[in-house]
Amino acid sequence: MKLNEQLPRSGPAHRFGHVALISEHASPLPAQGGAAAAANVGGQDVYVANLARELALAGARVDIFTRRDAPGQNKIVHLGEGIRLIHVPAGPAQPLPKEALLPHMDAFVRFVIRFARRLAVPYDIVHANFFMSGLVAQQLKLALGIPWVITFHALGDMRRLAHGPFDAFPPERIRLEKALMRQADRIIAESPQERLDMEQLYGADPGRITVAPRGFDPNELWPVPRAVARAQLGLAPERFTVLQLGRLAPRKGIDTAIQGLAMLRDRHGVDADLLVVGSGGDGGEEEQARLRALAQQLGVDDQVRFAGQQPRAALRLWYGAADVFVSTPWYEPFGITPVEAMACARPVIGAEVGGIKSTVVDGLTGFLIPSRDPRALAARLAALHADPALGKRMGEEGLLRAWRHYTWRAVAQQACAVYATVLDETRAGAASGFTPF
Ligand code: UDP
Repeated sequence: MKLNEQLPRSGPAHRFGHVALISEHASPLPAQGGAAAAANVGGQDVYVANLARELALAGARVDIFTRRDAPGQNKIVHLGEGIRLIHVPAGPAQPLPKEALLPHMDAFVRFVIRFARRLAVPYDIVHANFFMSGLVAQQLKLALGIPWVITFHALGDMRRLAHGPFDAFPPERIRLEKALMRQADRIIAESPQERLDMEQLYGADPGRITVAPRGFDPNELWPVPRAVARAQLGLAPERFTVLQLGRLAPRKGIDTAIQGLAMLRDRHGVDADLLVVGSGGDGGEEEQARLRALAQQLGVDDQVRFAGQQPRAALRLWYGAADVFVSTPWYEPFGITPVEAMACARPVIGAEVGGIKSTVVDGLTGFLIPSRDPRALAARLAALHADPALGKRMGEEGLLRAWRHYTWRAVAQQACAVYATVLDETRAGAASGFTPF
């Protein structure tokens, strides 16, 4: 039987599949703006929201499963044509740190299996996000035979290397990830470096890993003239301004940006501002307090502004207001924010780790520096300060690169190609139907 014969035959949707995206802790709602826009947004929220939208635009029907984390949430929320968000009752209906979710995954699994069993049109493929969602996909396959792929979004072993004893995830995470890497029908790594990490740290089979990045939405992010952005945000028109944007988490290395700012003043005589956009979710307040104390200690507290979490619709202004975007994490499986800055035509100075190694082209779209190296950061900031035309050129190159490689549409096309491969493998001879683009 052809894959999509059961799907409704009205409109283009009949050509494509029925997809379940599982994202146990990251709901797409905050990333979509609206009522939840003030909530904390991380990369996985953005990934799931954009992948779902692009799959649905291409004609697929998409159900996203995420944990119910507030009392009044409807079980099923229609997010747009072809997209449903399913709130899964698993654990208390309140926000919990993701580190505390593992004990609730059995309840999550039971609910999703029951839900999937009752569907008139079964899922063709399950795409799990993060290791705990992988556990759900694995059980769905055992119960209903649905093939699955997984994007890990972060690896426990790398996190442990970065966080050391402060990693609050249960130690069995790494064992579970290893098993999931063997059992998944396909693994999506977000960067060549993440694929290498999976091979080297977990012994994953490289033949079953496909690299597909994260992206940006051209309807959300585009270059805004600096003066316009600054005027709209009420920022000083002339100050050399550095932007750091993302969750306030220790592994993001925001301390390097603050130290770099101080060294820019001390070693290069350049007085600049640093905007820190984002909040932290779990542990974010502690991290902000730590960073504030560091800024004070280095005497740059007047130059560092913590702007808090900003809604998606405002991001192009924040990126646009900056002379340069900085991202200096110790570990980053992908890192969307450098790509978002490129989409806004701003030069990026990034730590040479994870996905940033591939997104930023050193000397062309910005600079790559070693992680935890504020001296190198200060030197590159000074170079951009001294030569505004260089920053402009790099921003323009970044814009071209973002459009060429990192639109969410292109990312979804790559995910579809992975689904098609898996479906072809598991239903040999049947037409997969996943050729929507
Ligand atoms: N983000 C946002 N508002 C903020 C801070 C961050 O919408 O105030 C978004 C940011 O634009 C990006 C995502 O959160 O799309 C962070 O993704 P990234 O891959 O950089 O990091 P992760 O959260 O996955 O570690």
